[in-house]
Amino acid sequence: MDAVSHGAWGATLIRSRALVGWAALVGLLPDLLPALYGVYRYRWAFFKDMTNQSFANNPEHTYIILYRWCHSLIPISILTGITLAFAPSWTVLAIPYYLHLLLDIPTHQGIWATRLFYPLSDAHVEGWDWWRHPWVSFGNWTAIIAINIFFFTR
Ligand SMILES: [Zn+2]
Repeated sequence: MDAVSHGAWGATLIRSRALVGWAALVGLLPDLLPALYGVYRYRWAFFKDMTNQSFANNPEHTYIILYRWCHSLIPISILTGITLAFAPSWTVLAIPYYLHLLLDIPTHQGIWATRLFYPLSDAHVEGWDWWRHPWVSFGNWTAIIAINIFFFTR
């Protein structure tokens, strides 16, 4: 799913005023961390390649490895365990990260498919790439807007 909607989902789920900004940021992290690497490595050419799909069709090896680490349950579960031990009140922020991984499973395919147990396993589901199937994004954003309207009007 698109990175912005992951942030919106994080903010939608964690409605605490004190944590909502952090929740949005944590929801973005699995896509944000590889993107920061892409910007560091390629500067503005990274965005140009993203918009013309050349990068999406043929990502650099280091980028895809980082992307898969960020979309694996293993590193986030280790971090969540450490957070639970030393700062348990912040553990709730792991929820947007886990939701990001969950939403990416049916909305990515091929090289971008979510490998939940990377690097131990390459197992993945062939979903529908959200950028190739506009109805996926439409349904996702409709759900985000509907849930927020429900919470803000009750
Ligand atoms: Zn993602």
